[in-house]
Order: sequence, then structure tokens, then C-alpha cells
Amino acid sequence: MPLTFDHSYARDLPGTFLAQTPARAPAPRLVVFNAALAESLALDLTQDDQTLANWLSGAVPMPGSQPIALAYAGHQFGGFSPQLGDGRAHLLGELVTPKGRFDLQLKGSGRTAFSRGGDGKAALGPMLREYLISQAMAALGVPTTRSLAVVATGEDILRDTGMVPGAVVARLAASHIRVGTFQFFAARNEIDQIKALVAYTIARHYPHLAPDDALGLFDAVTARQVDLIAQWMGVGFVHGVMNTDNMALSGETIDYGPCAFLDAYDPATVFSSIDRQGRYAFANQPLILAWNLSRLAQALLPLIDADEAKAVEIANARLDAIDPAFRQAWLEVMRRKLGIEGQDPADAALADDFCTAITGADWTLSFRSLAAAAEGRPEALLAQVSDPAPLRAWLTRWQARLGPDAPALIRSANPAVIPRNHLVEQALTAATHGEMGPFTALLAAVQDPFGPEHGREGFTLPAPSTFGPYVTFCGT
Ligand code: AMP
Ligand code: MG
Repeated sequence: MPLTFDHSYARDLPGTFLAQTPARAPAPRLVVFNAALAESLALDLTQDDQTLANWLSGAVPMPGSQPIALAYAGHQFGGFSPQLGDGRAHLLGELVTPKGRFDLQLKGSGRTAFSRGGDGKAALGPMLREYLISQAMAALGVPTTRSLAVVATGEDILRDTGMVPGAVVARLAASHIRVGTFQFFAARNEIDQIKALVAYTIARHYPHLAPDDALGLFDAVTARQVDLIAQWMGVGFVHGVMNTDNMALSGETIDYGPCAFLDAYDPATVFSSIDRQGRYAFANQPLILAWNLSRLAQALLPLIDADEAKAVEIANARLDAIDPAFRQAWLEVMRRKLGIEGQDPADAALADDFCTAITGADWTLSFRSLAAAAEGRPEALLAQVSDPAPLRAWLTRWQARLGPDAPALIRSANPAVIPRNHLVEQALTAATHGEMGPFTALLAAVQDPFGPEHGREGFTLPAPSTFGPYVTFCGT
């Protein structure tokens, strides 16, 4: 069956986007294509590579597509920008698949009316990073937008580091509705547009709600985002740029820029070169989540109650409930990671004390080596820390709490392989110079995160100390 597009966003939400044409890439070349994803969604993309490269870079219009750029605003590092929007992205339309409706969006596909000073382009390295990390997140079971392809445009573009190859990532998302989408219309006092967006978002993501139930929408989004951030932190993910325009109402991880995974555990870890205050540090992510959700609540206020004081009171009660909800979600993530079943009042302290005991040690390896510890072999875990005494004391408490299935539970909840920073860097650098081998090997490894560590030591071990502290640059 040929690929068919629908355009419900454009149909239902006039005035929230602009029709825009992608740039014609001079020499599109398919760098990586996610055939497994296409197949799992029954997307008929069996064309030859050149056709796919032409379509998925925007050089040749995909049959049935109607490219648009979406309007949105956003708080970036706490400061409000009333107009951001898709400055380098084109939404081609929605693909209706057996697994639901997905936006197909191109990123890096040229200037739009929202580009401001930008060139509308993207570099190959950051687009491959989005592909790799989103594949890893999906394999880890974390809700995320998906990457369908990366296409090199055949054009060099200017970045801080000089001229680099340009590329487009084609991604599938449950939708591209962001907290910043609501803020765009709230800032303009366009209540009817907010109403239309609420109804659309509910129909698309939370169809059990009535179309005008703004408060129900807020609660549903909160629940998904709380779960999402708890899952991020469980795998040691630092998003790096949790601006309100990078937070999706669908509850998917979106916009992979300067993101990275923890190696040594320190709650204050920041990777992004532009996050000098540590606003988006590892352990700050739940606080930022609450802050972003308060911006969403603010945009929804007129729809929560006609009486503003009452609307504020209702919203504040909801916001106060986020922190306890996050603690609960985090405790559930930690119970799974520690391999403990059921509930015990002492579990929260057990979880906190483990994190304290492994401070400075590798996050991923420490949790994974709990499996061997549960089998009576704690040596690898103890070797992770400089002072093993507190960890030994903790192990005694933990062992008393374990059931017979603990080792298997731990191995299924704690990855052996994550996209290690030094390997990501190595893979992207090589790819930028035309050598895809390291990228392909790393991609295969991160797609099987819970598999055995044996025989994959090159992917499971932390960076050598010579790698030094890791700094990421905004994904441009
Ligand atoms: P991001 O940091 O990727 O989430 O982007 C923040 C905002 O900047 C969005 O409105 C983007 O569309 C815009 N933007 C980022 N890079 C570019 C670029 N190269 N050209 C035009 N707009 C851009
Ligand atoms: Mg963004």
C-alpha cells in the first residue's frame, strides 16, 4: 500500500503554522535509514536509496506531503521568547499506521519564516547524535520521538568549528505539540486558539478526556512527564536543554541537542557548554519539570476557571502535587533497578543510600553489577567505589530485602550498554569524516542495552581517564 499522509494539525488548527517549502539539498545521500522502524509501522518505504534520500531531505516532495512550519514560543533558560517556531524544520504531515498517528518531520531542511538569524540547516554530527540517542532511548524503553533517517545534504555549512557537512534528520513523533505551543497563543491572548489546541491535543493523545477538559489535560500531561523524567534519571540521562519548547505534550523525549548520559554519578552533572548555571543538571530535572509545567498551567488558566483567582488556586494545588508524584515515580524506578519487589516503608531510604554510596562511581556499571552482588559476588560493585565500607553495610540491608528473582530483574532493568560519551564522540567524529564503522557498531550495541556484558566490554566500560570531563555543544 502506498504511503498516505493525513494533515489533521493543519486542518484543525488554522493560524498555528505556516506553509513552507524545504530547501532543495544539492546532493542528498542516505547516511542511515531505520528500516526496522519503517517495517514495524508498516510504512511502505521500500524505494531505492536515492528516492528515500530525496524525499527525506526535502529535496523532492514526498507524494501527499504538505510541508508546514509550526509556531511556538518558549522559555529558554528561564527567559521568555514569544516567537520561536520551526526555524529549521518542516512537518510533512501525519502517517497513520497500525501503531497510531505519527508526525513525519524533517529537521535541518532549510530556512522558514521562523528562522530569525539562523541558516535553517543542521550539521551531520548532531543529526546522527539524535538518531543514535533516540534509538538508544527507545531500546531502553523510554518514550521518545524516533529517527527514521539521516540524509547528508551534500552541502557544507558554517558552524563554530568551521565548515562541516550538512544533514537532515527525518523523525517520527507522536506529535510536535510543545508547552511552548500553548505559550505562543497565551502570550498573544488568543484564547480561542488555546481552546482549539486543548481539544486537538486531547483528541490525539488523551482521547478519554472531554474536548474542553483543560485541567484533565494538565493532569494527564503531568502524569506522563513525571514518569518520563523518572525514567530518564533511571538510565542517567541528562537532556541538557529542558526549555519549555522542548517539552512535548505527548510525554515523549524530544529535541536531542546537548544531551548525554551520566558516567560517574554526581547529582550536579551538567554536560552542555551553554548551561553555565547548572539549570538543567541531572538532579535538577524534576524541579525544571515542575517549573515548565507551571508555565503550561499558566497558559491554560483561562480555561481552568473563568474566575482567575479560583483558576490560580486550582493550578497551585496541582503544582504542589508534582514533587510528591515525582518521588513516587522515582521510588518505583529505583525499586526496579534495585531488583526489589513489593513495597516496604524503608525502600526510599534504601534507594537514597545506594545513590549516596556510589557517588563518584559509574552510574550504569554500579547498578548493573548489583546483579552479580545479588548472586553473592559483590566484588565488581565494591571495586567501583573508593571507600567500600558504606557500600558493604548497605549490601547487608539490601540482601535482606531481595527475592529469588532479583538477579534477572536487575539485569532486565539496568542496561549493560548505554551510549557512552567517549564512544558517541568517537563515532560522530569518524562519521563527519566519512567513516561510518564506529557509528554502525555503536548503534548496534545500544540497540541491545540489556544483553550480556560479556564479549561487549568495549561498549560497557567507562571512558579512560584521559577522556577528561565531557562537554556537549548545542545540537546545531
Ligand atoms: P533548539 O535549540 O534546537 O531546540 O532550537 C531552538 C529554536 O531555535 C527553535 O525555534 C529552532 O527552530 C531554532 N533554531 C535552531 N537552530 C536553527 C538554525 N540553524 N536555523 C534556524 N533556526 C534554528
Ligand atoms: Mg527545540
